[in-house]
Amino acid sequence: MRCYNFSPGPSMLPESVLKKAERELLEWKNGASALEVSHRSPEFQELIEKSKQALIRLMAIPDNYEILFLQGGATGQFAAVPMNLLRGGQTVDYVNTGLWSQKAIAEAGAYAEVRIAASAEENGFTSIPKMNTWKLNEKAAYLHYTPNETVHGLEFYWTPEVEVPLVADMSSNILSRPIDVSQFGLIYAGAQKNMGPAGLTVVIVRKDLMGNALPITPSVFDYSLQAKANSCYNTLPTFTLYMIHLMLEWLEAEGGVAAIMERNEAKAKLLYDVIDSSDFYLNKIAYESRSLMNVVFDFAKPELLEVFLRNAEAVGLYNLKGHRALGGVRASIYNAMPMSGVRTLAEFMTEFQAKYG
Ligand code: PMP
Repeated sequence: MRCYNFSPGPSMLPESVLKKAERELLEWKNGASALEVSHRSPEFQELIEKSKQALIRLMAIPDNYEILFLQGGATGQFAAVPMNLLRGGQTVDYVNTGLWSQKAIAEAGAYAEVRIAASAEENGFTSIPKMNTWKLNEKAAYLHYTPNETVHGLEFYWTPEVEVPLVADMSSNILSRPIDVSQFGLIYAGAQKNMGPAGLTVVIVRKDLMGNALPITPSVFDYSLQAKANSCYNTLPTFTLYMIHLMLEWLEAEGGVAAIMERNEAKAKLLYDVIDSSDFYLNKIAYESRSLMNVVFDFAKPELLEVFLRNAEAVGLYNLKGHRALGGVRASIYNAMPMSGVRTLAEFMTEFQAKYG
């Protein structure tokens, strides 16, 4: 029996998507599996185009943006972003709201002078610093932030308004809520949470920002080279793209991003309501910064963690252990996690509290 998988990524995929992949595994097009066809074949090139069009529809991406499917994960983009977007500049602005921001900052430091425009470190990563406290550098080549911090469980519900190009690592909340793409210079996201299995990173970049990569930029990370090659400068992981396409089709059938956001809000509310209803479970994140995607919590009696995780597995609720840096529990409830999974977890939490509280 399939479990409810609360893994932070790679994470749960909808059963209907997996079943379709299973049905087509041996024969996708012309009697071959999507695992076997060339990335340069006409059927695969059509799949790339269809995936781009689905993303354009789902996110209302304007014409002046390029969509790329790249390898190297979001971590690869931590380097690719400064290499491509410095455009003769020296300094870049970063907002530090948690572990993933910090990794992006460390990597960018190899290519640029990084200034920290704002940091949640002072408040122990429990709330996103208000925009009027940010120290912006008008000479920055761009400002980078992490709209959802997968480990710390903080999320921006607003888009920063800055004069320089805005760069967002949306790895853990892309397609989970409507956004206005025109406010961004570049958006990137690993596929393995909200969009499919691991293996590809989607990059959505304003066309005028491309074409000025540092000479040291590896070809596979050069946005304009990859744009000219339709993301096929080298062999792209064909099966991952095939799965992303199925996920995008699923998202459209579910009513698109606005409908998904309503469901995501309702899912997160179920868990936060249980946490807030007593002092048994603790979540330190400020109300207006709480993630809809990664709900983190501790216990007033920390010794209960292992019992909680063990008992949860016994009823089919898996991968709830928090990140090793923070401990506690983390329930990752991305787009594909059904309401029934979250309801089962909320009920389990209530029963667990009744028993051990
Ligand atoms: N950024 C964020 C916000 C993430 O959650 C992750 C992965 N958990 C990464 C970057 C790194 O992604 P990858 O492992 O694909 O490089």
